Amino acid sequence: MMATIASSFYGQKTLLIEKNRKLGKKLAGTGGGRCNVTNNGNLDDLIAGIPGNGRFLYSVFSQFDNHDIINFFTENGVALKVEDHGRVFPKSDKSRTIIEALEKKIQELGGQVLTQTEIVSVKKVEDHFLLKSAEQTWTCDKLIVTTGGKSYPSTGSTGFGHDIARHFKHTITPLEAAESPLLTDFPHKALQGISLDDICLSYDKHHITHDLLFTHFGLSGPAALRLSSFVQGGETLSLDFLPHLTQKELANFLQQEREKSLKNALKLLLPERVADFLSQDFPEKVKQLTEQELDKIISLIKELPIPVTGKMSLAKSFVTKGGVDLKEINPKTLESKLISGLHFAGEVMDINAHTGGFNITSALCTGWVAGSPHY
Ligand SMILES: Cc1cc2nc3c(=O)[nH]c(=O)nc-3n(C[C@H](O)[C@H](O)[C@H](O)COP(=O)(O)OP(=O)(O)OC[C@H]3O[C@@H](n4cnc5c(N)ncnc54)[C@H](O)[C@@H]3O)c2cc1C
Repeated sequence: MMATIASSFYGQKTLLIEKNRKLGKKLAGTGGGRCNVTNNGNLDDLIAGIPGNGRFLYSVFSQFDNHDIINFFTENGVALKVEDHGRVFPKSDKSRTIIEALEKKIQELGGQVLTQTEIVSVKKVEDHFLLKSAEQTWTCDKLIVTTGGKSYPSTGSTGFGHDIARHFKHTITPLEAAESPLLTDFPHKALQGISLDDICLSYDKHHITHDLLFTHFGLSGPAALRLSSFVQGGETLSLDFLPHLTQKELANFLQQEREKSLKNALKLLLPERVADFLSQDFPEKVKQLTEQELDKIISLIKELPIPVTGKMSLAKSFVTKGGVDLKEINPKTLESKLISGLHFAGEVMDINAHTGGFNITSALCTGWVAGSPHY
């Protein structure tokens, strides 16, 4: 959509072809259906938020960055708001607002859109690309492939763009799951459905302070998704429910609340179900706890061990790591170094980012640059 907008803005006759009934199916599902349209961090934050080849995007961001995304939507009548960790959402809390603004801009600039049209083959014949669906054929002199990765194929991203790239002798780096929910045996049932802000989840030397969600299969939410790059299954994570408190501060707190039941004391710091879960094997009152029991409850709060049994498959992970090899793409124009006129944008390339608006920033900014002419 953003590639179509840039291309139409610069006066090119442009056609967007989408196989789904509607545009932006995956975008619609981001940010819990609210569309996490970008992140308002600075350039260093952006690059850090894109662990999979973010540095390739310096040139792209010098042409169009997250602040241009914010300006774009604001100028096109979408009120935005910034939430925790710099995540930007429409004030309406509805993905539709973002998708409709993009659709309206395409229409205003004279871009054409064909939905329910699946491209099944792409060739280059002399100077022109030849695109085919089951019923129709199109020719064009510039082709921008924005077919996404291979995650959540039900949204349309089945990896067809990789086939196009392969056809043109591009290398596809190995495809892997990124930003994957983690499977654990413990402690699902007791904590299922609980979402915690700013806990610290650690493995080895990796410490991620962010939000965490307990699900029926294990762990999701940004902290688990970010840590997923460092684990496979078989590791034990450590969960600190209260990273802003030291063990000593926690011991002092329990001392102050010694007349209360342990559960009620913990409820002052933690959600009720977490307090229930942590206090279940201890004496009722704080003052009844032995020194060893005090050490044990503090260690459960600060270092709860969680064994990981595996992670979700590529199809069920939020993002695809790997894609069209960036060595074969010009970072200024996003044109293929192998085939003139062929361009790539978005997740089809070997770029993967954290959730929190970074993938969408990469997709929108590369879309703008690929759609823009470079003389
Ligand atoms: C549940 C979920 C939550 C996410 N949350 C976040 C988040 O909070 N923050 C963040 O930054 N990122 C998030 N992401 C990742 C982000 O949504 C993607 O990185 C981004 O949408 C990629 O954009 P894209 O345009 O490259 O590809 P896509 O959004 O996948 O779009 C590709 C489009 O190409 C179409 N297409 C494919 N093949 C063909 C064909 N042969 N013919 C015609 N059309 C075709 C598809 O139908 C699809 O509409 C999330 C992803 C998921 C699945």
